[in-house]
Amino acid sequence: MNETKTIAIIGGGASGLAAAVAAGEALRNVEASRGAEGSGGRGVEGAASAARVVVYEASDRVGRSILATGNGRCNFSNARPGDGDYRNGPFVEAALAALEEVLGRQPVGCGGVLAAEGASNAVLGFFADHGLMWREEGEGRLYPLANKATSVLDCLRATCAAAGVEERAECEVAAVQPPREAGGRFTLRLAGGRFERADAVIVAVGGSVARGLLPEGVPFRELEPTLGPLATEPRWPRRLDNIRVRGALELWRPGEETSPEERNCYGLPLGTHEGERLVSREVGEVMFRKYGVSGIAAFNLSRLAESGDVLAVDFVPWIRLCDMEAFLNRRRKLLRASLGREATWDDMLCGMVLAPVADVLLEAAALNGARPVAKGETARMATFLKGLRLPATGHGDPRQCQVHRGGVEVGAVDERTCELREVPGLYVVGEALDVDAACGGYNLHWAWASGLLAGWSTAERLAGSSGSARGEER
Ligand SMILES: Cc1cc2nc3c(=O)[nH]c(=O)nc-3n(C[C@H](O)[C@H](O)[C@H](O)COP(=O)(O)OP(=O)(O)OC[C@H]3O[C@@H](n4cnc5c(N)ncnc54)[C@H](O)[C@@H]3O)c2cc1C
Repeated sequence: MNETKTIAIIGGGASGLAAAVAAGEALRNVEASRGAEGSGGRGVEGAASAARVVVYEASDRVGRSILATGNGRCNFSNARPGDGDYRNGPFVEAALAALEEVLGRQPVGCGGVLAAEGASNAVLGFFADHGLMWREEGEGRLYPLANKATSVLDCLRATCAAAGVEERAECEVAAVQPPREAGGRFTLRLAGGRFERADAVIVAVGGSVARGLLPEGVPFRELEPTLGPLATEPRWPRRLDNIRVRGALELWRPGEETSPEERNCYGLPLGTHEGERLVSREVGEVMFRKYGVSGIAAFNLSRLAESGDVLAVDFVPWIRLCDMEAFLNRRRKLLRASLGREATWDDMLCGMVLAPVADVLLEAAALNGARPVAKGETARMATFLKGLRLPATGHGDPRQCQVHRGGVEVGAVDERTCELREVPGLYVVGEALDVDAACGGYNLHWAWASGLLAGWSTAERLAGSSGSARGEER
């Protein structure tokens, strides 16, 4: 019997649009593979009926979340996705591997051919096939060549339109109810009170995913914002508000030990950082705010910070702590020769750090800037230059956090498809899953990857319900 089946995608953000394109194109290729029956077509085979893909988006248009990324430039992926330090890393790794495998089954135009140079994985292959061009910046960050997030969204929307995907803006879904009996349909309860039916559902609502949207019993971890600024003891940050420095930020955890190998690796002399462990170190821009520190280094450390941790700002990251005192002693001699008198601390810090930073360092080290540098003081200043300590107190400004930790627990999800094990036909992707990563394009990479995986899988599922080989295996 030929009846129209529906793949409902809840959320028209990054993962939802990737899922829509993948599902829409895979279904469209069913027609082509019918025509090419017996000719070895590689699309989703055997779907007996027409099917449609509908994106339900709560806001007034799809893709708004994409436009806000990367300061409007959209750091849409990373050349080395494996460096993302993903939460629930083994699950993500398995899903990304599954995606590469699925990619091999897709026809040209669905990511099946890595059309552009540099498309070294399924996500990049997908974008290359759909015409997006990009360039790489530091640390493998990938941005669209047009340097605007709109070019990524335009590509996705054009592809959605070509694949016949229906967009339903201002259409919030309040709850998904699973079929009452095997082979039945899902019910979507819309915020306005209406009900709609679907044969497969992809939940792609991002970090605002609510437990109430999902069927009862789906394992869920409460959401908390992360990847944002860090609040610290405010005495020094308040004085440095809005100042940016190129430095490094370290996260230290008191009550634990740094191993001798790590001490050696980071050049920590004996007597420093005893009884603490270096949890992580991020080199990059540090921006001081009234409440603490912001910038990419702080964002990345916010994913790891625990109560009681201490942040340390390293103002001279290219010199190791064990070499810092000797560096300052050499500088003192150099300045004495050029000035023709003993160098003061003001002389020493001028040209090395900004004046407000120098003032804070002198006060923290209890040194007088106008006085000549005395014996033993260089060792003291070395420790402050290499680590102005700021006890961390929590998230600085949750509104600036880029992702939420928590959501649907990955243990409940099949990593080969993103389908919930206990609710066949219901898929969860992107940030709605308990997956997050460091800055650098990794979060969007995950959103696209999981969306593609679920999109292709739902199409295969519909095909499977009419008897494709893969469907019968399920
Ligand atoms: C300011 C900012 C900058 C960022 N920059 C980057 C970056 O440069 N690189 C990077 O990798 N990551 C970045 N991120 C993170 C990245 O945007 C997210 O990880 C990614 O968008 C998650 O994709 P998603 O599809 O899961 O959710 P989203 O892209 O957030 O999409 C969810 C969609 O679902 C809709 N929705 C929600 N609830 C419902 C409902 N009940 N019914 C219907 N629709 C609903 C929302 O309106 C939204 O359109 C940034 C995040 C922020 C906040």
